[in-house]
Amino acid sequence: MHEFEFIDWIRRRVGRPKGRRGVGVGIGDDLAVLRFGGRVLLIGSDMTIEGVHFTFKTATPRQVGHKALGRCLSDCAAMAGVPLGAIVSVAVPKGFSNRVLKDVYRGMIRLANRFDCPIIGGDTSTSRRGLVIDVCLLGACEGNAPVLRSGARPGDTLYVTGRLGGSILKKHLTFEPHIEAGRWLAQHLPLHAMIDLSDGLSSDLNHLCRESRCGAELFESQLARAVSPAAKTLARRTGKSPLVHALNDGEDFELLAAIGLGPEKFPPLPPHVQLLPIGRITRSGVVELVTTDGRRKRILPQGFRHF
Ligand SMILES: [Mg+2]
Repeated sequence: MHEFEFIDWIRRRVGRPKGRRGVGVGIGDDLAVLRFGGRVLLIGSDMTIEGVHFTFKTATPRQVGHKALGRCLSDCAAMAGVPLGAIVSVAVPKGFSNRVLKDVYRGMIRLANRFDCPIIGGDTSTSRRGLVIDVCLLGACEGNAPVLRSGARPGDTLYVTGRLGGSILKKHLTFEPHIEAGRWLAQHLPLHAMIDLSDGLSSDLNHLCRESRCGAELFESQLARAVSPAAKTLARRTGKSPLVHALNDGEDFELLAAIGLGPEKFPPLPPHVQLLPIGRITRSGVVELVTTDGRRKRILPQGFRHF
């Protein structure tokens, strides 16, 4: 079974969250939304697994910790939320180095301190093989409503907060979660929908369109300006084009935002917010690339598949 068929199966059996006490948004967004005591709370979890999300051959232990917490913080950024605290559970193989494990936590704690998101609990267990880190993040919305994947409207411009592709060369271990940018966008612009790019633009844009029941077109001329230098370096090794890497590589952890405002009408952006236009939301129901010579190509989800 495909990962998303499995998630749909769970969603159907769990039922609609509407009417359930406290649940604003259930399965299907970057984080779940709970309404409790007049506050909007956000909650979600991510597993980071040795051999799947990292290997100690290419990642330092501190980078592994950074990534494990950073992935959850990026989901929080995509909801335009602020983090409150994290529950971190680890399964550690027998004989695993104490020094390495402590360095993994040091990487996590450094990021946690920077975002004022203390580690407030967790579980420790053993694994048969490889280190497994599960981070459950609790956040809140302050000064804005949570931004969902489902609010995009035809005519919205699509923007990304940074350049895309080739993250496997380094960025998947060192990325900065865009917490401040996510909140700024929600508080200053007609921001209708947002998702963080973890699986890859082709997959994550398809998720956003599916939840919003709309389509999208990406303009090759604009997307070319959002291709990262790493995508170009990687393309020389793989023989694929840099554009294909920008479309399909996962783990850029940039935000993809659908905003009801074209780039020509923007107020000045603060220094921590970068926005690159890449396309627009359409009524079509499909995601397409408009090439520089005006042809249309269907973009199917080809980013990272978990199983
Ligand atoms: Mg996400």
